[in-house]
Amino acid sequence: SQFRAIVVDEVSGENGEAAARRRGVLRTLDDDFFSAAGDDDRPLPSTATGVSIDVSYSSINYKDGLAVAGRPGVVRRLPLIAGIDVVGTVTASGDPRWAPGDSVVLNGAGLGESRHGGLSERTVVDGASLLRLPSAISPRRAAALGTAGFTAMLAVMALERQGIGPRSGEILVTGAAGGVGSVAVMLLSRAGYSVTAASGRAATEGDYLRALGAATVIDRAELLQPGKPLQSTRWAGAIDSLGGTSLATVLAQISYGGSVASCGLAAGAELPSTVLPFILRGVNLLGVNSVDAPIALREAAWLRLAGEAQLARLDELSTEIGLSAVPETAEAILAGTVRGRTIVNVR
Ligand code: NDP
Repeated sequence: SQFRAIVVDEVSGENGEAAARRRGVLRTLDDDFFSAAGDDDRPLPSTATGVSIDVSYSSINYKDGLAVAGRPGVVRRLPLIAGIDVVGTVTASGDPRWAPGDSVVLNGAGLGESRHGGLSERTVVDGASLLRLPSAISPRRAAALGTAGFTAMLAVMALERQGIGPRSGEILVTGAAGGVGSVAVMLLSRAGYSVTAASGRAATEGDYLRALGAATVIDRAELLQPGKPLQSTRWAGAIDSLGGTSLATVLAQISYGGSVASCGLAAGAELPSTVLPFILRGVNLLGVNSVDAPIALREAAWLRLAGEAQLARLDELSTEIGLSAVPETAEAILAGTVRGRTIVNVR
């Protein structure tokens, strides 16, 4: 009954290092691991109370990169199975809503942060945020979407709620060659929007971004120079993974009444902006949080994704690795060299 998992813990003696350092390593565990308290006495879902899952796929998001590389701010208890995405099959359930054989998906909801996650052959989760995998989506494509795809869909839906549609004008996607960005470009272009993709890899990934549906590809350097708080308007809306100066520039370039969905902080958590875009152009800044999304929003977003899941483009934007390649891929995603989505086939 043993299984393999990427466990984040204080690890010493690797690579000649004397001092213990936090990182994710591949370990072999048994089910007792799920009932061990670790350094936090708040209870975790156990094999008796939670939903036990045979994991088929997980994925690597930026947050998984931070967790596995041992960077602060993501993992809040040790030891912890990493992985903010889970796709798999229920094997046992202490929650009456779930039964053995159910095909399920779960993104965020504390996985890989304060609860055991999906970078494992087996995991145990709380049934409250779990979703039945729509039949139109294969488990592999559900992982190709993962938190990044779920977040990109939440961002598209947030723009739509503000009345933005394909005829509103150009939509900008920043961090476009990354996970959230790639899926956002694909979803928006499929929905009929004209999309500009901003990337630090415009020269090398321009063809990739155009194949996903971008009408125009620009160098992100255009957005990274501090500028005036109001600039010539270029975009009806934007989906931003970067934050920082780049988000301030985007806000300064949004047309009257336009909206920006703020998803991430790959370039920084600060926002060196002014209120001028809001009070002089009626610009809206929309927050997107996939981790704590209520169940009704999760269901709505995954229903929309089910309509997109047959897309061959989803395969084009994803790469598959095994569990043993997770630590090196974690470093690569933090270095900004990973393109699109990385599926982890845990078997
Ligand atoms: P990825 O690493 O896959 O994509 C991020 C992209 O941002 C990179 O590919 C790169 O794109 C660009 N980038 C990276 N570093 C920098 C930098 N220093 N300056 C400018 N651009 C940079 O990550 P994800 O798509 O998984 O996540 C993107 C962001 O969104 C992260 O901050 C993540 O934490 C956040 N996030 C938030 C969620 C939420 O619920 N709000 C959910 C999921 C993610 P390019 O090479 O094209 O320029």
